Amino acid sequence: MTAVSDHARPPLLVALPAGPEPLSFEGGGPGTLLRTLLRDGPSARTELVARTRLSPAAVSRHTAELIGLGLLRELPPRVGPPRAGRPQVPMDIDPGHHLACGVHIALDHMTFAMVDLRGQVTAQRRLPHPGGPRQVLEEIGRHLPGFLSRHAVGRSVLGLGVVTGGWVDAEQGTVIEHAPLGWRDVPVRRVLSAATRLPVHVDGHARALAHAELLFGAGAGHWDLVQLFVGNVVDAAIAVGGSVLRGRRSGAGDVAHLPLGHIGQACGCGRAGCLQSAVSERAVAERAFEAGTIPTPHFALLVDRARQGHREALRVLRERLRTVGRAAALLLDVVNPELLVVVEHTALTFPELLPDLYEEVAAHSHLCVDPEQAVRPSSFGPHVLAVAAGSVVLYAVYRRPVTPPPHS
Ligand SMILES: [Zn+2]
Repeated sequence: MTAVSDHARPPLLVALPAGPEPLSFEGGGPGTLLRTLLRDGPSARTELVARTRLSPAAVSRHTAELIGLGLLRELPPRVGPPRAGRPQVPMDIDPGHHLACGVHIALDHMTFAMVDLRGQVTAQRRLPHPGGPRQVLEEIGRHLPGFLSRHAVGRSVLGLGVVTGGWVDAEQGTVIEHAPLGWRDVPVRRVLSAATRLPVHVDGHARALAHAELLFGAGAGHWDLVQLFVGNVVDAAIAVGGSVLRGRRSGAGDVAHLPLGHIGQACGCGRAGCLQSAVSERAVAERAFEAGTIPTPHFALLVDRARQGHREALRVLRERLRTVGRAAALLLDVVNPELLVVVEHTALTFPELLPDLYEEVAAHSHLCVDPEQAVRPSSFGPHVLAVAAGSVVLYAVYRRPVTPPPHS
């Protein structure tokens, strides 16, 4: 494989460090400026001084650095009544020079994505994968150069983000355990760094989406947020004070085995009645198949039936959403965030069923008085997996856009 950042403009930028940033405010002034512009839109230097509390000299220095890196641009001066001093030149995020590449690994397929600095997905492609860790990482290495050459066109690639469910150690870049995939201790960053020569950032998809919601989605302007991801695995991420909790070895947010399922449903962990055994796509499809609702145990088939108005298929999805509502209620009471964001197929594709989710939250939460405000479907709709993958890289950019020189 060859390096793929050969369109870089300017070449400085590819020096982003791999791996997660510390939660301390290491990004300093440049990161503050970038995030302020992302949140508030175009702003003149004087406005940035007021909003960031950086000195005028620091704002001038950092904006020059960020323009030099192709992350910021100056817009035409504002037209207004004549006034003393220099004309107000608004600054804005420049999405034209760089892209983040990402890969989301699901149970039986992976999603390649390109995402710009505003979190907009510019390309995505879904491919089946063979399942074994070595084969999947080899497949990524094989497909990546072609995907990048088709979709990076003229823009530099800031890095490769790789996200999946289960227990992912972001610091080590390792998937510690993804039980449905059968992965244990897979050194994703080490393998893909060597294969791609890009900075590789690895994280759990719930944490990646919590960052994405805070930067680009419904969480913008909020500090406390819970992200609940319900697919074939069930994960949560908790953001407090704008920082996403990692816990020891990035183990925070494992809600898969909360006892919210039905007592008779066996779980892969050896117990019964776990949340994941109740709501994972595979488990729901298998139960619907055994009940004769669908002819083969495939979740997509269940969704298709429901879309065609099949009453039993709709009932199964509604029951699943209600169980998710009970999990949301529990998390709302434990964390009491401003917002809880749900990634779940029914919530995203059957908005008419959302009242079921809200009813369960209202019935089971002691703290949440306005479920329709506090609980939202993901901001990213059909692009949710693509955004999750790219946002691991973008989080690193917004955290620390300018790499300090060694020994500084
Ligand atoms: Zn379990």
